[in-house]
Amino acid sequence: MSETSENDYDVVVVGGGPCGSTVSTLVAKQGHRVLLLERESFPRYQIGESLLPATVHGVCRLLGVTEELEKAAFMVKRGGTFRWGSNPEPWTFAFSSSPQFAGPSSTAYQVERMRFDKILLDNARANGVDVREESPVSDVVEDAGGRVTGVVWQDAKGVRHETSARIVVDASGNGSRIHTRTGGSRQYSEFFRNVALFGYFRGGKRLPAPNRGNILAVAFSSGWFWYIPLTDELTSVGVVLMPEALDRVRGDRAEALLSLVQECPMIAEFLADAERVTEGPYGKVRVRKDYSYIQDAFFKPGLVLAGDAACFIDPVFSSGVHLATYSGLLAARSINTTLRGDLPEQRCFEEFEARYRQEYARFHDFLVAFYDMHQDEQSYFWRAKKVTAGLGSDLESFVELVGGGSSGEGALVSSDRTAAFQELADFVHRPVDESGEDRDLLRTSLARSVSREGVRIQVQAALGENADEYVPVREGGLVPSADGMHWAPPVPRES
Ligand SMILES: Cc1cc2nc3c(=O)[nH]c(=O)nc-3n(C[C@H](O)[C@H](O)[C@H](O)COP(=O)(O)OP(=O)(O)OC[C@H]3O[C@@H](n4cnc5c(N)ncnc54)[C@H](O)[C@@H]3O)c2cc1C
Repeated sequence: MSETSENDYDVVVVGGGPCGSTVSTLVAKQGHRVLLLERESFPRYQIGESLLPATVHGVCRLLGVTEELEKAAFMVKRGGTFRWGSNPEPWTFAFSSSPQFAGPSSTAYQVERMRFDKILLDNARANGVDVREESPVSDVVEDAGGRVTGVVWQDAKGVRHETSARIVVDASGNGSRIHTRTGGSRQYSEFFRNVALFGYFRGGKRLPAPNRGNILAVAFSSGWFWYIPLTDELTSVGVVLMPEALDRVRGDRAEALLSLVQECPMIAEFLADAERVTEGPYGKVRVRKDYSYIQDAFFKPGLVLAGDAACFIDPVFSSGVHLATYSGLLAARSINTTLRGDLPEQRCFEEFEARYRQEYARFHDFLVAFYDMHQDEQSYFWRAKKVTAGLGSDLESFVELVGGGSSGEGALVSSDRTAAFQELADFVHRPVDESGEDRDLLRTSLARSVSREGVRIQVQAALGENADEYVPVREGGLVPSADGMHWAPPVPRES
């Protein structure tokens, strides 16, 4: 059966993961007609369960799903606990160590992706996106000049459609082939060529409060384990194997996972009284090649790649959903600006690509240093400061990076300073410690934020540079518009 759709759209988005839902919602909110085509029927399984504050309090706030996420009662994550590097003892970082993630924005969630992704997709629908599930896209359509003008897809009844759009977004993740239509190819990292093996357990131990919701990452001789508490009972456990250990995933996967657990004492101890889930969507032990890659072009006329379709980086800092949703926001700005006719398409998508590449590069460059197991955590924090050119302490720079906030994007950190002011007020009104210990006012997040702002202004004054987000990230670049949903040329500075 074949049918040509009578209905054409401003934008067609391929894929209903976090990236597709983000970009489609933020474009539809501007009044544009958006069709989202998703191959699967939701809820569907996906890996990538540990989120960052920049996603939860930044992009999810813009999408308007904050209350839905609260209602879902996902496990609250305050930071990460690592047995990693030369320190034989586990060490922990808290997102609250950075003034960027003050008050309530100092946490993120561990999510069952089946539930999280459905919340975002339903929200896209509620915001006017025409969402079609069980509707795989097989190809894009190009005009004689090579511009992408639409997509070919099949609906749930097997009817073939060809739908045109002014812009097509490939948000189909790592698996589909649409990215090849940019004319470029994926460049695979020489460094991150790992394979992940993962499953789910009931009854695993928890870290002591207040860190019971933290992600736990434990390095051992063949690679490293993640241990993500999804609920009080359910834990996601996966091992990322170095290339030398790849033959361990051949044969029975469940046996391989259990035997690798026994080689990692800390994870074996956490799982001592636990049982592997063997039924339902969590019953399978899965393998994913998680080679890091980056596409050599993120767009061509009429087509833009975002989320995993454009690039993927090793999961040790749980950056995947952050990169997917942040790139969704950046792509939405470019699309909204192009559709409104404010600026040429090429310029808008160059801005998208420059910013997305920059965020990817920060994680990539830091992760290369993080895989050097001969260093301790202080050295990793120092490295984060170098990679991000952070103005705060080494630890603050590290937390800003792994919390998803080092781009300096106001949209990714909570604009709500009420909690920080409350923290300061509580502090000032608290009775003096009976032990006579000094009350360290400078430790409150607002005070740290103010002192950091002071440093920033001093740097600006000294260098004559504005470190603000309203200054482009590159020469000739654009800045977010006042509404945050478009790009605008920077306002020239007075000399
Ligand atoms: C081992 C491992 C562990 C990870 N751990 C984490 C973590 O802890 N935290 C984290 O943030 N990230 C993690 N990630 C990364 C995370 O899984 C991804 O970065 C994230 O899901 C990307 O989102 P996306 O929207 O770009 O793509 P996806 O989530 O892959 O969504 C793409 C959607 O497109 C659909 N689709 C595909 N092809 C088509 C087609 N032809 N037509 C229509 N629809 C199509 C798919 O069905 C899917 O729903 C991990 C990844 C790996 C491999």
